[in-house]
Amino acid sequence: MTEFLYMKDAEACYIKDFEGTVTKAGDDWVILDRTAFYPEGGGQPSDTGRLIWEGGSTRVISVSKKGGVRHYLEGAAPVKGTEVHGIIDWERRYGHMRAHTSQHIISAVVWDRWQAKTVGNQLYKAKARIDFHPLKLTQEDVEWIEEECNRRISQNIEVQIYELSREEAEEKAGVERCNMELLPKSIRKLRIVQVGDEICPCAGTHVRNTSEIGTLKIIKKESKGKMRTRITYELV
Ligand SMILES: [Zn+2]
Repeated sequence: MTEFLYMKDAEACYIKDFEGTVTKAGDDWVILDRTAFYPEGGGQPSDTGRLIWEGGSTRVISVSKKGGVRHYLEGAAPVKGTEVHGIIDWERRYGHMRAHTSQHIISAVVWDRWQAKTVGNQLYKAKARIDFHPLKLTQEDVEWIEEECNRRISQNIEVQIYELSREEAEEKAGVERCNMELLPKSIRKLRIVQVGDEICPCAGTHVRNTSEIGTLKIIKKESKGKMRTRITYELV
């Protein structure tokens, strides 16, 4: 099992480099005992970066949870037992952190007014697209969402990350709003991300304060089938 160094709390999301040991190696991938690299999941792309070790170094081109937490490498992999220094491409990751935190805010804004759930999301560097259901929006609604998101962002809200038991999380977050029924029943402890009063289980990386998000600008609204609406926005 790989230890995820970014999981612990909001501060841990800012770990940009770390030391780890190769526990398993393929031709072009390694598994480490610990990592600060985010593996693709939950709509957040994987980190990229570099691994450096005595006598070698190579780029990390992607990280996947399939078959263990595999760091896929551009060059040849270091052998099992090698101690490595990992460095994350920070600009890219920080863009994902801003996008992920803003996603919590827009999901809460849409839920609070229309009780529409977030049913899909893809995050990019300081950009995101999110699907809501059931939801149909006018241009006026879109403008209102943008304004309300920016109003909440500008309140400089602290983002908190901590663990709760499943029962506590269900009570506080609301099973329906956060799609908690989709989480396997075997998971008893959940990592909670709290932005203001809104709490949601989430395994992604986030900024510590909404002041780091920037201004949310909705660039597209599309209908994706009956009562399903997709919103695409950038952070500027
Ligand atoms: Zn999140």
